[in-house]
Amino acid sequence: MATTKESFASNAAGLAKFRDLDQRGKIMAEYIWIDAEGNTRSKSRTLEEKPEGQYKPEELPIWNFDGSSTGQAPGEDSDVYLKPVAVYPDPFRPPNNILVLAECWDADGTPNKYNHRHECAKLMELHAKHEPWFGLEQEYTLLDLNDRPYGWPQNGYPAPQGPYYCGVGAGKVVQRDIVEAHYRACLYAGVKISGTNAEVMPAQWEFQVGPCVGIEMGDQLWLARFLLHRVAEEFAAKVSVDPKPIPGDWNGAGLHSNFSTAEMRKEGGMKYIEAAIKKLEGRHKEHIAVYGEGNEKRLTGRHETGAIDTFTYGVANRGASIRIPRECAAKGYGYFEDRRPASNADPYSITGIIMETCFGAVDD
Ligand code: ADP
Ligand code: MN
Ligand code: MN
Ligand code: MN
Ligand code: MN
Repeated sequence: MATTKESFASNAAGLAKFRDLDQRGKIMAEYIWIDAEGNTRSKSRTLEEKPEGQYKPEELPIWNFDGSSTGQAPGEDSDVYLKPVAVYPDPFRPPNNILVLAECWDADGTPNKYNHRHECAKLMELHAKHEPWFGLEQEYTLLDLNDRPYGWPQNGYPAPQGPYYCGVGAGKVVQRDIVEAHYRACLYAGVKISGTNAEVMPAQWEFQVGPCVGIEMGDQLWLARFLLHRVAEEFAAKVSVDPKPIPGDWNGAGLHSNFSTAEMRKEGGMKYIEAAIKKLEGRHKEHIAVYGEGNEKRLTGRHETGAIDTFTYGVANRGASIRIPRECAAKGYGYFEDRRPASNADPYSITGIIMETCFGAVDD
């Protein structure tokens, strides 16, 4: 597509004239869903305005879309239903418009094949008494419209890794405006974003969301991903969640998943952390199967990863599958970090299988 940074900038100036027009009692609701490839999609509809904060997902209309255009349904039976599950203030249309996260359902009343939320929600409900907290670290790479990481020479490579992680200054980081705008968009929308940092590979960044309780983790991470793509669109930049965007001596991108339960967060919690790690060890293959596509290129045992076919754990060990933070080991309670998930994994699948492995399947 022949869009340039300049054309986006001039559009923004034109649009600004219309931002403050009275909406005459109506609001714009942007319905967001997850497609067959793990991208977010969205479309808008008009709803009656309600007093601020009064939108409940179960009171919002169920909607639909053409699933044959997103790889989610066949052409002859193409309607996929959008069932609202969470509502957020829309940072792109302040102050009164909303973002509506929706689950995808088929016409026969079963969850769509790519609706991983439904199963996750059941697991979270079944095991709610453990009060599961999650914190996810989303790594990503910013690409230009030619799919080249920002700041990388057209031919050749930047200087080796070292100065870029948490880097400050020209030549070390790129596109900080996108990161800042995304941070603010998340805060405005009520996403529990807990921080951001520049990553080890140039043009790679990270944001963290959490701690979130149960199903809220997947919802918030998907919303944060939507916001990132939408913010980057304004800067004519692409967001890649490829787990190994550049082969060779360049760090991959992960989705480290931090986890704790009420028992683990109390004094003496280490024995619950160790018990959970034992269970994870017994289902390593099953976890890897849902921890992202192309993860074998990333989990090599180098570049701060554990190897894909071995399960390892350790205190403060960033080359292991599971890391117990030094501070938690010292205190004897807290949380642990599952470092295996790739940047493109589905947070519903990750948090769901962690619950299943630690506490049992829905039908057990
Ligand atoms: P790292 O040192 O691995 O880079 P980060 O600071 O990037 O860690 O991310 C840590 C994540 O762990 C944050 O999202 C934070 O909210 C989350 N976290 C902190 N305490 C807990 C806890 N008790 N249970 C689950 N997640 C937690
Ligand atoms: Mn149409
Ligand atoms: Mn981190
Ligand atoms: Mn990181
Ligand atoms: Mn981490």
